[in-house]
This record gives sequence, C-alpha cells and structure tokens, in this order.
Amino acid sequence: MTTDLFRQDAYLTECTATVTAITPQGIVLDRTVFYPLGGGQAGDAGVLVNAQGHELPIIDTRKGKTEDGSFTAAICHLPAPEQLAALLDGTATVSDAPLLAVGDTVTARIDWARRHRMMRFHTCSHLLCHLVPQLVNGCSITPDYARLDFNMTDPLDKDALSAGIARLVAAALPLHVGSITDAELDANPALVKSMSVQPPRGSGSIRTIRIGGLAEDALIDLQPCGGTHVANTREIGAVVVTKIEKKSATTRRVVLGFAA
Ligand SMILES: [Zn+2]
Repeated sequence: MTTDLFRQDAYLTECTATVTAITPQGIVLDRTVFYPLGGGQAGDAGVLVNAQGHELPIIDTRKGKTEDGSFTAAICHLPAPEQLAALLDGTATVSDAPLLAVGDTVTARIDWARRHRMMRFHTCSHLLCHLVPQLVNGCSITPDYARLDFNMTDPLDKDALSAGIARLVAAALPLHVGSITDAELDANPALVKSMSVQPPRGSGSIRTIRIGGLAEDALIDLQPCGGTHVANTREIGAVVVTKIEKKSATTRRVVLGFAA
C-alpha cells in the first residue's frame, strides 16, 4: 500500500520514497505526495527524481486497480506510455544503469503550481455547495477550470454566484480536516451532497472537510471529501463563475474559472 501524505498535509510538495513496484499501471511508491484521480479531482503531475538526480516526468496519478476493477491501496505514478514501456522492459537506462528500479529511493515532487490551482478550485466548489443548497450529480476539478452539476430545475444567476464566492473568499474562512464514523454518517445522511460520489465506508472513519470555524454558528460547509484543499478561503483568490449551462431538464452546470 502507499501512504497518502497529501491527505494530512495538502501543502507537501515533495517527499522521499521507495519504489515498491513498477507495473503496467504505473510506478508504485511506499509513500507519496501525489494525489490520485478521485472524487472528481484530477490526478497530480510532477517528477520522480532518482538518487543520481535524473528526473522521470509523471503525467498522471491513479489509484491501483485489481483485475475486477476495484481499487487497491496502491497509488500509481504514470510516466508517458513509451517511458513506462521502457521501464517495464528494462531499456530505460542512464549510463547503462536503470533509470528506476524496485527498491530505489526517489524524491517524489509534484507540479505545485498545477496542484495549487486544483486546491483553490476544489475548496471553491465546496463554497458553491453552500451557495447552491442542492445535490450534486457530477463534478470535475482540473488545473484550468472546475465544474459542478447540480440536480435542480430553477435557473442560477452567474453574477450572484460570483459575488457570493467573492464574499466567502474575502471572509477568510478557515478549513479543518476532520473525520466521522460510518455510524455518524448514517445518522446524518444530509452531509453527503453528492449523488454521484459516495464516501468510502468500511474503514471505520471517513475524512471530512469543514469550512468555517468550529463553532456551530460559524459552519459554512461540512462534507465527506478525500480531496486536497487550501487552508483558508482567502487563498482561493479571484475565482469566478464563467458559465452556467442547462445540461438537462434537471441539471444546472456551474463552471468555475480564474478571473482574467
Ligand atoms: Zn470535495
């Protein structure tokens, strides 16, 4: 399994790690700062640096999968396809030494500028859940835009939503990473705002993201989430609603972007 350092500290940009496997799914490390695609948030990109200082670019990160398609606890770092093929057949070498081999110590370093944009968008998408109190039936967080699909028939106002976001960003609200038990979640099903992504039950505790202070009357949003977030809403900066689309009779799509 891979220890997911980013869940406790989303601001870690690099770590040292040991290569535990090189498979067709990618390079598996014992620990990592790379977030794997999930919960609507794109996988991280970056580099793995070997002991000689040679860099292997990583273009995506995914959770490992078994043959039946269920997720494993491994996090797979994906180089370009031809580079992965060369690693697998042993032809990826530098001065006759393998670029990367199982057991090697590497530095895993994410593309922080890219990740930070996704952290700003992801936290902003939770602010949208406060501004639009409707269930979400689709979500995508990328470095360049984010979109949330709300299950609703009423129209939404782009400028009013952008103003709402600006107000919550200016309020400089803190975020807290917490956890609840499966039983607590079962007793409060309204905490789950997504119809499309169900929190992972069964491990005993489910990670939560709370926006606003810990006092009950300071709460802005609280929901199960495994994604990476900024520590304070002020860090979201200038994010606006760039588009609202009527995706279907019962779906309104809100697209977020950086203000020009
Ligand atoms: Zn989330």
